Amino acid sequence: MTSTVEQLIAQYPLVKQLIALEEVSWFNPHITSLNDALPYVGLDQSDIADASERLSRFAPYLAKAFPETAAHSGIIESELVSIPHMQAQLEKEYGTSISGRLLLKKDSHLPISGSIKARGGIYEVLAHAEKLAINAGLLTETDDYSQLFNQQYQDFFKQFSIAVGSTGNLGLSIGIISAKLGFSVSVHMSADAREWKKAKLRASGVNVVEYQQDYGVAVAQGRQEAQSDPNCFFIDDENSQALFLGYAVAGERLKAQLDAQNILVDAHHPLFVYLPCGVGGGPGGVAFGLKMAFGDHVHCLFAEPTHSPCMLLGVHTGLHDEICVQDLGIDNITAADGLAVGRASGFVGRAMERLLDGYYTLSDDRMYQLLGQLSLTENIQLEPSALAGMLGPILLTQDTGYRQRMQFDEGTMKNATHIVWATGGGMVPEDEIQAYLKKSGLY
Ligand SMILES: *Cc1c(COP(=O)(O)O)cnc(C)c1O
Repeated sequence: MTSTVEQLIAQYPLVKQLIALEEVSWFNPHITSLNDALPYVGLDQSDIADASERLSRFAPYLAKAFPETAAHSGIIESELVSIPHMQAQLEKEYGTSISGRLLLKKDSHLPISGSIKARGGIYEVLAHAEKLAINAGLLTETDDYSQLFNQQYQDFFKQFSIAVGSTGNLGLSIGIISAKLGFSVSVHMSADAREWKKAKLRASGVNVVEYQQDYGVAVAQGRQEAQSDPNCFFIDDENSQALFLGYAVAGERLKAQLDAQNILVDAHHPLFVYLPCGVGGGPGGVAFGLKMAFGDHVHCLFAEPTHSPCMLLGVHTGLHDEICVQDLGIDNITAADGLAVGRASGFVGRAMERLLDGYYTLSDDRMYQLLGQLSLTENIQLEPSALAGMLGPILLTQDTGYRQRMQFDEGTMKNATHIVWATGGGMVPEDEIQAYLKKSGLY
């Protein structure tokens, strides 16, 4: 292994910096147009439309089963807000002006489970439930799905089980929606999962199985349990197209939000989106949806902790899921829940590598600092992982090589919109939020 690592470093000097846990950024020289990249994704607009229509069919059910979604008629969506004070704070802190405007996409406050997982995770369970009910002759696509809230359907779903491996937030989403529909659901949780998430799941009637090891082990165990039971459906965070499509619906939703705020996106008004990345399904799916909605005018960057740079490692070396950070002696220990993933999704990396403008890593300390600064300047409280995207606008602005290669001149950059995708935090208990703020050193 040692010699393999040395060879890897010789070929990809950046790997040495990853091993040293340095904060790095890599702007992808192999980016192509959407048209050239699409065949590698293997999915297209019709797949997203299908997912979007499915979510619309379920909206009456969600509005009834989760009253907090009723105000938006059962559509699970988050706010897009301007954060000018944080923008000024970043500019001051890093001595760089961020051209254009800075917005925050608050998936942190999505209803039902308070994280980006309320997109993909919930969608995949709904798609599975729909298939079962339709196959059993209990439902047709033209029915009013609010009837799924009736006891008859809950009794039907009770015969089936669902299993998932999770560091926390995915388990929360899958567990809550599955239990509500009536499924027997097991969430296999890694050692780093928070106590309050386990407690919340148990209170919702979910079977929580705990492991002392990391996410990879929890997933493997969950998968194994599901294989021995034909009535058990395993949600595969690493390879699921359904999850990916659930996330991808965010693209058209964001487009409608930008239209409503009269924010233009075109060749002279680029859109930059900064997404925290764990295994890759969430940011990958969202990025795919954004590309389908905005074409080549949207530019996505993935952000990872210095201790868990699995996607950067996999894409940069071309090894994808054939390498994990532990192979390099990196410990995969980070305070960023949801991002503590050692091996990236091979599906997402291979599908999306031509469509992503860049990748970077940042330290836990920096996530905490950004967490404190966002709270102080905008009074918005997030969990550490959700701050990973916040450094992106600075790194992008500072990288003149990237901007020249992409031909973003000053005039174009002035028209830019930067969106930091806040992926979690809305349901974190108050005492945990206070502990996070303390760690920032600013409170
Ligand atoms: C899961 C998660 C992510 C990343 O999603 P992946 O699909 O694992 O890449 C980012 N932030 C938070 C808070 C998450 O829970």
